[in-house]
Amino acid sequence: MSDTIFGKIASGEISADVVYEDEDLVAFRDISPQAPTHILVIPRKPIPTLNDASPEDAELLGRLLLAAAKVAQQAGIAEGGYRTVINCNAGAGQTVFHLHLHVLGGRPLQWPPG
Ligand code: C5P
Repeated sequence: MSDTIFGKIASGEISADVVYEDEDLVAFRDISPQAPTHILVIPRKPIPTLNDASPEDAELLGRLLLAAAKVAQQAGIAEGGYRTVINCNAGAGQTVFHLHLHVLGGRPLQWPPG
């Protein structure tokens, strides 16, 4: 489980600024925030990319989205608007190969993203 930095955060081996956690998920503040609020939500299960998720992960992925909405609400960005992003593979900018959902908000967000 601890083969990436996020695996180590999920297992508690490395500390992070955790804003939410439960049995299956951890949410923590990004160390290099791209918006006033930038939180990452990860499953404890080490799924490398979205491509590696399987039908048995369907409930977990649904709970990942619900946790994103919960942390957005807690952070006070739910009403103003926020964005959720999953970068899948290096071509899309993925740098940590442990599935994670970015939650970004607190400033106007442009579309399309770069
Ligand atoms: O989607 P991507 O893989 O590029 O996102 C990785 C994110 O993890 C980056 O936003 C980076 O700032 C963050 N990160 C972190 N803590 C680490 C290593 C990376 O919050 N120790």
